Amino acid sequence: MSAAALGLCPRCGRRTLFDGLARFAPRCSGCDLDFASFNVGDGPAAFLTLLIGTLACVIAGWMALSIDPPWWVYVVTLGPATLAMIVWGLRAGKAALLCAEFRRQASEHRIEP
Ligand SMILES: [Zn+2]
Repeated sequence: MSAAALGLCPRCGRRTLFDGLARFAPRCSGCDLDFASFNVGDGPAAFLTLLIGTLACVIAGWMALSIDPPWWVYVVTLGPATLAMIVWGLRAGKAALLCAEFRRQASEHRIEP
């Protein structure tokens, strides 16, 4: 969980997992673990879209019904909050899947000759 939350390499524990906001580095600069060999894909993106979209809509509905702010308050508050949740959620979700693959030594199926 800490490796996923902080973007730590699952083998050596250094903070080398990400090379951008939510993009994996090609390999760990500490232990040379090849991050590109893991098949994380876009699995967390669909789940996060549903979860964060629902949460943003619930908060917007609550704001409209309880305090009825002007439109720019939604833009100023919900816009950055939604972006922050998406970026953090993508980082944590992708890192959790990569760490799970590393821990369970999951890989593509191969037929041994
Ligand atoms: Zn490492």
